[in-house]
Amino acid sequence: MSEKTFPLDRAELEEIAKRYPTPFHIYDERGIVENARRIKAAFSIFPGYREHFAVKALPNPYILKILAAGGFGADCSSYAELLLAEMAGMKGEDLMFTSNETPAGEYRAAKKMGAVINLDDISHIEFLEKSAGLPELVSLRYNPGPLKEGNAIIGRPEEAKYGLTREQIIEGFGLLKAKGVRRFALHTMVASNELSIPYHIETARMLFGLAVEIRNKAGVRLEFVNLGGGVGIPYRPGEAAVDYGVLAAGIQRAYDEIIKSAALDPLGIRTEWGRVITGPYGWLVTRAIHKKEIYRNYIGLDSCMADLMRPALYGAYHHITVPGKENETETYDVVGSLCENNDKFAVRRRLPKIDTAAAGGPGDFVVIHDTGAHGRAMGFNYNGKLRCGELLLRQDGSIAQIRRPETTEDYFATLDPAGLKDFTI
Ligand SMILES: *Cc1c(COP(=O)(O)O)cnc(C)c1O
Repeated sequence: MSEKTFPLDRAELEEIAKRYPTPFHIYDERGIVENARRIKAAFSIFPGYREHFAVKALPNPYILKILAAGGFGADCSSYAELLLAEMAGMKGEDLMFTSNETPAGEYRAAKKMGAVINLDDISHIEFLEKSAGLPELVSLRYNPGPLKEGNAIIGRPEEAKYGLTREQIIEGFGLLKAKGVRRFALHTMVASNELSIPYHIETARMLFGLAVEIRNKAGVRLEFVNLGGGVGIPYRPGEAAVDYGVLAAGIQRAYDEIIKSAALDPLGIRTEWGRVITGPYGWLVTRAIHKKEIYRNYIGLDSCMADLMRPALYGAYHHITVPGKENETETYDVVGSLCENNDKFAVRRRLPKIDTAAAGGPGDFVVIHDTGAHGRAMGFNYNGKLRCGELLLRQDGSIAQIRRPETTEDYFATLDPAGLKDFTI
C-alpha cells in the first residue's frame, strides 16, 4: 500500500521559499533514480530491454538527462519534444517518435535525427516515403479495436483515433518490406493510469500473438515490440503501486509461451512509460492565501489549474497534505485562482485546519502530491495565468531551479507592441 510522503519538512520549505517563492513543482532526484534502477533490474530478464520515457509527462531536459544517465531513451510526440531529448544528450534510436497527424517537416526532422519512427496509419507509409524517405527501421502502431478493453482516461480502443487495425498491420508490414525497409517494430498504447498487472500482461500477450501472425502472414520478423505507456500510480493512499517484478515475470511467461514456442526469440521488449517513471516523485508546493466560508468552506491557493490540470480535466484525485499539521478536522474545497468553477484541486476534502496569508502570517504550505507526470506539462495560459517554475531536490539535498516561473514578458512574447502603435482604427 502506498503511503503519501514528502521529502521536506515545513522549516526546510520556509528556507526554500525564501529563494523560490511558491508555487513551484519540486521533483525528487533520488526517488526518480532509484525507481529507474528498480525498473531496469526487474526487466533485465529481457536482453536489450529499453524504456523510452514519454517526454510529454515531464518535458524538462534536466529530468531527461537524469533518465538518460540511467540508460533510458525518450518517446517524443513532436518536433519540440525531439529537441528536448536531444538537448539532454539522447540521440538516434534512443528516440522513439510516436506522433499523430504529423506534418511532413516533423517526419523529416525525426528521420534526420535517426529516431525510430512509429507510424499511426497505413497511409503514413507513403506519406513518410514521399516526405522524408523510408528509414531502415519502421514501427507501426496497433489499435486492437474491439479486441481489447480500454480504460477511463484513454477510452475504448475502438473509439480511439490512434493506430492501424489488425488487417492493416499485416498489410502495412508487407508494404514496408516490399518498399525495402529491413527492420520492423510493433507498438501499441491502449491504457492510461492502469494499475492492474494482468491488464498489462494481457497487452504484451496480445502483441506477442500479433508478432507471430505478422511473421506468418507478412513474412516479417519483428526486432522489438513496444508495450506503450499507461502503467498507473497509486494517487490515493491505500492503492498499491505496480510491482515491476511481478509484471516482468508475467510478461516473461507470455513470452515463453508465445514467442519462444514460435521460434521468434529473441524479440526485444520496449516500454514508453511516463507517469510511473516520474509521477510519484513530484509535488506542487503552494501556499494558502485566502479562506472563504459560504455554502462550503474554501481554501484559495496561490496556484491554479495552469500548474496542474488533472483534477479539473478528469476529476482526478491528488492527495493533499499540510506540512507540520496532521489532524484532519476540517472539510474544504481547495481551489485555484482561475475564473472557472472546475479550478478545484480537491472537493470536500478532509484536511487539517489551514491558516491563510490573508489572516496574517505567511500562510500554510499546501502540498499537492504526485505531480511529477502530466502536471505542469499540461498547463496553459488561459486567463492570463503564468505557469510556475520547477525545482529539483538533488541527491545531496541541495535545490536546483530547473525551470524559472513564467513572467508577463513571456506571456507577451508573441505580441508586437510596435505593430499595435501603427494599428490605427
Ligand atoms: C502519453 C503516452 C505515453 C505515456 O503514457 P503514461 O500514461 O504517462 O505512461 C506513452 N506513449 C504514448 C504514445 C503516449 O501518448
